[in-house]
Amino acid sequence: MKKKTAGLIGLDKNHVWHPFTQMREWEASEHLVIERGQGSYLIDTEGRRYLDGVSSLWVNVHGHRKREVDRAIKEQLGRIAHSTLLGLANVPSIELAERLVKVAPKGLKRVFYSDNGSTSVEIALKMAFQFWEETGKPGKKRFVAFTGAYHGDTFGSMSVGEIDIFVKKYRPLLFRPFRAPYPYCYRCPVKAKKTFPDCKTACLKAFEEVLKKHHKEIAACVIEPLLQGAAGVVVSPPGFLKEVRRLTKKYNVLLIADEVATGFGRTGHMFACDAESVSPDFLCLAKGLTGGYLPLAATLTTDRVYKAFLGRYEEYKSFFHGHTYTGNPLGCAAAIANLEIFEKEKVLMKLAPKIALFKRLLERFENLNHVGDVRQLGLVAGIELVKDKRTKEAYPARERVGYRACLRARGYGVILRPLGDVVVLMPPLSATRKEIQKIADAAYRGIREITEGAKA
Ligand SMILES: *Cc1c(COP(=O)(O)O)cnc(C)c1O
Repeated sequence: MKKKTAGLIGLDKNHVWHPFTQMREWEASEHLVIERGQGSYLIDTEGRRYLDGVSSLWVNVHGHRKREVDRAIKEQLGRIAHSTLLGLANVPSIELAERLVKVAPKGLKRVFYSDNGSTSVEIALKMAFQFWEETGKPGKKRFVAFTGAYHGDTFGSMSVGEIDIFVKKYRPLLFRPFRAPYPYCYRCPVKAKKTFPDCKTACLKAFEEVLKKHHKEIAACVIEPLLQGAAGVVVSPPGFLKEVRRLTKKYNVLLIADEVATGFGRTGHMFACDAESVSPDFLCLAKGLTGGYLPLAATLTTDRVYKAFLGRYEEYKSFFHGHTYTGNPLGCAAAIANLEIFEKEKVLMKLAPKIALFKRLLERFENLNHVGDVRQLGLVAGIELVKDKRTKEAYPARERVGYRACLRARGYGVILRPLGDVVVLMPPLSATRKEIQKIADAAYRGIREITEGAKA
């Protein structure tokens, strides 16, 4: 190891507290220090190249060092890095808003900026709540959220989230939403006797029950459309989202689509909502918004919601929320470049054959002795590892099976990060067929070697 690398690792262990990380384990482990990137590759301080198998935690879209995005940021830097949206407007935030409205599902016309996915959800929750205050239905104060949901780490977004290990400790500080079952079909939350489609999506019945009983108290429903990311890439069956939209309309409940993970082509559509022609009342965007370059988020909403906040100054109907870096020009410039690439390179059209290949490569995982379920949508997949395939019994947490499988895959030149015992594969949309193949191969070998003790 180079002296420089050893020095950096020492300092990292001394000073940097890593997110979602047991630091004792981290301090004891060997880790990579990333210095550069190129296309689908990450390059560490030792000059070793690794395929970025989770798109740098679900953000990268067109690869690293994408010329057009690099250039857009540099050009913006030549003008100004930041100015505030409080009391002033700036050029890139205006141009980006117009572009976002053009590509977003119909009816979403207003763009509120922030800087990460959690805040994009927080903003939607606050707007939905205040909407009913301003329109004479102050009884609508509560939310419906789904089992297994993840919407971020701020208090509001944690409140609607339901991944126990993330939020359990903070429960005493959180508000309580109504909870509806998300169709995690491998472990059906309503224990339906039949499988989809014969179950007739029984979980939707439970959802409708909540709305029927409580709609007068409910401001909005928040959902990760088509797939729950952090829950372990849980893909919902076709028609589920559309029905959620229909029922929320029927019961006069606003719909918040958290597309922080699913936005910008990940599912094969620009937005997951597009797959079922759904227009939500709020669309939350972050992760891929800047192509994976800079922290920027946006919450889109309708004119109907927007207009409820209009009034005389002293009525204090304004939306009292704003982050210092709201509408940051560098982030917005990157996001504009991101959208331009989608258009110019016809990214979505070119995705279909890659998705087909990805799907095919995933088939052989099903035959592994400890793979319980393989879930895929677009260019994202989750492979759920289980101790007992027949009973679906999970591995004990202390065995760190998912983590070890990913670490093993690193030995084959691919960076992966699991969600518990779900191994996640998420190549950048720009990954070549060969790169997708390499990511799948490394995952296969890592899983097989750790769960079966066999060399693949
Ligand atoms: C990642 C994620 C968030 C949180 O975004 P941050 O930028 O990490 O705050 C919210 N919702 C979903 C669906 C996500 O995947």
